[in-house]
Amino acid sequence: MAQLVLATDDTGDAEIFASLQGEGPSVGTPVAFIRLSRCNLACTWCDTAYTWRWDETKPHRNGEVFERKANQVTLAPQDAAKRILALGQKRLVITGGEPLLQGPALADLVAHIPDMEIEIETNGTTKAPSHVDIRVDQYNVSPKLAHSGNPAELALIEERLDFYASDPRAFFKFVIAQPDDVDEVLALAAKHYIPPARTFLMPEGTDSAALNKRSGWLAPLCLEHGFRMSDRLHIHLYGDTRGS
Ligand code: SF4
Repeated sequence: MAQLVLATDDTGDAEIFASLQGEGPSVGTPVAFIRLSRCNLACTWCDTAYTWRWDETKPHRNGEVFERKANQVTLAPQDAAKRILALGQKRLVITGGEPLLQGPALADLVAHIPDMEIEIETNGTTKAPSHVDIRVDQYNVSPKLAHSGNPAELALIEERLDFYASDPRAFFKFVIAQPDDVDEVLALAAKHYIPPARTFLMPEGTDSAALNKRSGWLAPLCLEHGFRMSDRLHIHLYGDTRGS
């Protein structure tokens, strides 16, 4: 049976916790979170670089390199399920890193939590296997724009964007660092028929001051183009911390 490779919290234990969803359509909802390790992209501003940045080959603005052994822990899916159920929440958010890199283990995990609602956060470059997909209530798809530093051929896979755009369970969430980034979103939305009602623009930032500053110019752009806007509630509540 495939094992889950999880990120670790500040104590070195698996990053499984209860909190309020901080972003996107479910913002403010009490949920259980499980954060999986590893990512197939490398965003320069990634706030969970401890899930993937094991050496200096990929640039990151903080320059921090994480020791892989200290930042990964392996759990059997049924053991992860027990910890999730012990949190007493109705809904599970599966996040990362890029959690869909671990499809077979995720299929075992969701089979052990048959009554929970499932929300998956993905960068939109990959798909869930059918045994996972059938259980998913909501996808939060966050394609990475040019300012992330990823090559477009890795970050913006046309077939995948078409796939998620055609799925009413999928909400798109674009991280916006500067006003010009919205032009890139408009081009992607037109090309892939991504409905504005399922599109959130979210300011980039890992502290309240940065989020508030960018929100000031982002709000009128959302209004102008009919996009929804997402804040990052968990940053305002808890700061840029693990397990929150
Ligand atoms: S896709 Fe997400 S987890 Fe991966 S590097 Fe980018 S922000 Fe980080």
